[in-house]
Amino acid sequence: MASYPKVQLHIDGEWRDARSGKVLEIINPATEEVIGTVAHAEKVDLDEALAAAERGFALWRKVSVMDRSKLMRKAADILRSRADAIAAMLTAEQGKPLAEAKGEVLAGADIIDWFAEEGRRAYGRVIPARAEGVYQLVVREPVGPVAAFTPWNFPINQVVRKLSAALATGCSIIVKAPEETPASPAELIRAFVDAGVPKGVIGLVYGVPAEISSYLIPHPVIRKVTFTGSTPVGKMLAAMAGQHMKRATMELGGHAPAIVFDDADVQKAAKTLAVAKFRNAGQVCVSPTRFLIQERSFDQFLETFTNTAKAIKVGNGMEEGVTMGPLANDRRIPSIEALVQDAVNCGAKLHTGGKRIGNKGYFYEPTVISDLPLSARAMNEEPFGPLALVNRFSDFDEVVAESNRLPFGLAAYAFTGSATTAQAIAAKVETGMMTINHLGLALPEVPFGGVKDSGYGSEGGAEAIEPYLVTKFVTQAGL
Ligand code: NAD
Repeated sequence: MASYPKVQLHIDGEWRDARSGKVLEIINPATEEVIGTVAHAEKVDLDEALAAAERGFALWRKVSVMDRSKLMRKAADILRSRADAIAAMLTAEQGKPLAEAKGEVLAGADIIDWFAEEGRRAYGRVIPARAEGVYQLVVREPVGPVAAFTPWNFPINQVVRKLSAALATGCSIIVKAPEETPASPAELIRAFVDAGVPKGVIGLVYGVPAEISSYLIPHPVIRKVTFTGSTPVGKMLAAMAGQHMKRATMELGGHAPAIVFDDADVQKAAKTLAVAKFRNAGQVCVSPTRFLIQERSFDQFLETFTNTAKAIKVGNGMEEGVTMGPLANDRRIPSIEALVQDAVNCGAKLHTGGKRIGNKGYFYEPTVISDLPLSARAMNEEPFGPLALVNRFSDFDEVVAESNRLPFGLAAYAFTGSATTAQAIAAKVETGMMTINHLGLALPEVPFGGVKDSGYGSEGGAEAIEPYLVTKFVTQAGL
């Protein structure tokens, strides 16, 4: 296996251990072996990171947009050149197959490039004045130092969107990256440091998440908060941000409906959605979860989908041919087991999977369950694992009602052969993102975000730049 680094903090331009010397252990989810350690920051480290972020902001905001953009593109190239080594670390700490890990690193580089360009177009505007000689200017300025909190399912992807938007707009940022998967986000930040980002502009810390967020969010240096994770934690952090009048972007949980109408290409829908479902072992906020299939197509969909699930090769992500790795941590196993048990107890039918694989490594079978009552826990809670729930519907209004039944509204999927139905379903489903007849979410240039309990703000497209800028109005008359 590739070597795994001793992961350090990055504060004020320096890679270093925590002042206390404290570390946390990192476990490979495929082998359950301890593969390394990560430095555990405490208040003294956070104070240094905050002071550095304040200095870093004063400096970085003055760097021209062109120079910021060039530096970001250099970081993207460095990241690409290190993709193989970083992917191996990512697989070791998170479990996903090596090819997916490499894809995440390379996609990260593309995201940096896109934000580097988009930051150059963060224009203000001129408003026509009511008097001659008066200029009314709308100026966009960076909001200030950002505190970012990111989870373990996409250790690079979840950081890179926040980091790139902050840097492109002239903000500094302190990233609290995931303690369970710390090496790959550290390597992402190393690419920026090695590209020449001045000290203080990027800080990287790990520790006890609640201690760090409750210290950073209220701190006067921090002007914006961005979080990806579960809805309950997001609500807590958003409330804290509100109390201290900090801007917030919240990228939270989902429970995506995947709707297949009778007029769809059902085979294509089943195969495409199975790929989406089991990617990253279902630990994806936009993962399709409630498969809602129109009656006539139900049996055909279920058969193809189940066969596709059975063909998935589960194993250590470092091994050739493996298409699904373990769950990322030991908490996921009992959590999925409880949802499956509850569904079966409620009378649902189990078609494949439903068990942990072996007792070493957090492997769980790709699982397909059908005919669930709406009272089943899995129909209401985000499973965040390789669990597909397949139910039937009879007409358009019924499927709209089921799609909108839950408080979540992150992603939605639909398959139909009718342009009219496609338009109608896109209009009716309460969701931040809708992908019809293909998988088209999460590209850097398109919005990425939810509605309702799935949060607010966007982490893609031009909309992702906006939350990092404040507006200043200047009106000026001649002397
Ligand atoms: P969790 O809710 O404890 O943690 C989720 C993430 O939030 C982690 O990265 C964690 O470090 C962070 N976090 C938790 N408490 C925090 C706090 N007070 N301040 C700052 N950050 C905090 O649970 P978990 O066991 O890690 O994951 C369970 C659930 O979280 C999943 O079932 C899923 O619903 C959700 N989740 C969502 C995403 C996503 O992409 N939206 C990613 C990971 C986890």
